[in-house]
Amino acid sequence: MNRIDEAGEVRRAEGAKPTSGKRPYRFILFDADDTLLDFRRCEREALGGALLDGGYELKLDDCLSRYSLINKELWLEFERGQVTQRELRGERFRRLFAEFGVEGDAEAFGAAYLNRFGRGSFLTPDALAVCDALKPHYDLSILTNGVSDVQFSRISGSELKDHFDHIIVSDDAGFQKPSAGIFDYAFRRIGCTDKSQALIVGDSLSSDIRGGYDYGIHTCWFNPEKLPNESGIAPTYEIGGLTELLPLLLDERK
Ligand SMILES: [Mg+2]
Repeated sequence: MNRIDEAGEVRRAEGAKPTSGKRPYRFILFDADDTLLDFRRCEREALGGALLDGGYELKLDDCLSRYSLINKELWLEFERGQVTQRELRGERFRRLFAEFGVEGDAEAFGAAYLNRFGRGSFLTPDALAVCDALKPHYDLSILTNGVSDVQFSRISGSELKDHFDHIIVSDDAGFQKPSAGIFDYAFRRIGCTDKSQALIVGDSLSSDIRGGYDYGIHTCWFNPEKLPNESGIAPTYEIGGLTELLPLLLDERK
């Protein structure tokens, strides 16, 4: 039993098979949104700013909840090949404006939103402290689904800009998590030839944990809201806060 188990802070999901003794990881792959970057805050600030700039008198909270749903729907349509990424940028606001009965230039609004969102570099709690502590010991990378220039801009504008050896975006890889294609691309980029040396950390069971599990690497589910796991997949580890990574990854390296 190690300290983590005794404290009960790091819960090992049923069926997980953690390696015993010395942990062999060398490469940590972090998801970006809702793991290191506070996606909801970035979205809120971008939408609020764009509404203000455009002189739209809509309540931000009402808009945000509808926008989030419309945006999710459109990304699913993108995954199914029904809409291009370029079309999606304006289309999400065309639908939002239609719902609120607003006359507006959705294309221009989409561009204004994206410009602001690309500067959305708000971090999740403890992201900086945890990456600071891990950086001397691990090859840290980001593995994110999204638009390349937007994700690069957000990360390079954040306090985490110097922490990563590689930033891998689905846009550049040509595949999205959970597809094996993005993992193949990432492993080539980071120079990892032994899957047992890699751990993926992310909040999404359907992309991060499913992707890592299918690819045959260890997974750490970041689950701050204590959501139930109905995915049928047991992550190797489950944590409620990013600081729980420290005893997990650093204790045996002292
Ligand atoms: Mg995420």
